[in-house]
Amino acid sequence: MKQPLLDVQNLKTYFFTEDGMVPAVDGVSFYINTGETLAVVGESGSGKSVTSTSILRLIPSPPGRIVEGTITFEGESLLSKTEEQMQQIRGNRISMIFQEPMTSLNPVHRVGDQIAETYRLHRGLGHAEAMERAVRMLERVGIPSPEKRARDYPHQLSGGMRQRVMIAMALACRPSLLIADEPTTALDVTIQAQILDLMRKLQEESKTSILLITHDLGVVAEMADRVVVMYAGKIVEEGHVLDIFKNPLHPYTRGLLGSIPRLHWQRRSLLPSIEGVVPNPLEFPAGCRFNPRCSEAVARCRVEEPALLTIESSHKVACWLREGGNLFVGSTVGS
Ligand code: ADP
Ligand code: MG
Repeated sequence: MKQPLLDVQNLKTYFFTEDGMVPAVDGVSFYINTGETLAVVGESGSGKSVTSTSILRLIPSPPGRIVEGTITFEGESLLSKTEEQMQQIRGNRISMIFQEPMTSLNPVHRVGDQIAETYRLHRGLGHAEAMERAVRMLERVGIPSPEKRARDYPHQLSGGMRQRVMIAMALACRPSLLIADEPTTALDVTIQAQILDLMRKLQEESKTSILLITHDLGVVAEMADRVVVMYAGKIVEEGHVLDIFKNPLHPYTRGLLGSIPRLHWQRRSLLPSIEGVVPNPLEFPAGCRFNPRCSEAVARCRVEEPALLTIESSHKVACWLREGGNLFVGSTVGS
């Protein structure tokens, strides 16, 4: 059987804070194949960013720690790498783009120098050649007058241009995995569409796999091959993008889909939305963590935690109402 590019099994990343233990990522398993885009969706606080920073081994410690699980990338265990080995992987074989480019761009260095630096560091190129490649990369991400722009500092560029620079930097070394955490959230719709197009184009050229973290289901529909839905540190549903959109099984996924804003304003008031908020991770509810917000919850949901089970081929869900592939009528389950 073909090995996935990235295989995460039973990942648990906890934060040990003064107030107590935060099980931010609590037994998460997923994989990404070569050239594929996996979207991770879920409301704020569900553990999406902690999952991605765990892969890069960038969890602040203390208070955080990966307490269990395995992360296998290109056949190698990332959790047994030294910090020095991880530095060789970050920005090279795995790179990352964030919602806010200023977190990964250095304000006191010219953008051309910053991209050139990754070529020097990971490809061992000399100064002139690294700079030449940096300018070419700026051109590829659609930055006009790239030679001139290369001499700009990040603050001299617009938000969209900074995002492009960050993508240029992230893709400079043709990583096999790009982790994009809310890459377009801060941008206006037109720029967002351009950036997504650009990511797709570069992905096709280099067969890059993308782990795309977003709470924007429009972005998911446009970009993803498969989708993982996270809630309160757990995966509640997983499947191909069409399965998720056409046949969402988890009440939470249905809630998320119901909350996509529609253009047709008259229907908006009829659409379901998820009431309540993500629970405080210091006191997650017993049973299914979604149960206090679930309109379909039955007695069992408040006591026992449902496992993530395969319903059909690659479509999985963790919900007692869907146990064994049958849709149980709420009132017949539990007491
Ligand atoms: P998402 O990206 O889905 O919005 P995060 O992965 O950022 O969510 O956060 C998941 C949970 O982990 C949140 O409850 C958050 O408060 C907690 N968390 C993240 N970083 C820390 C930290 N440094 N210390 C304590 N808790 C943290
Ligand atoms: Mg996040």
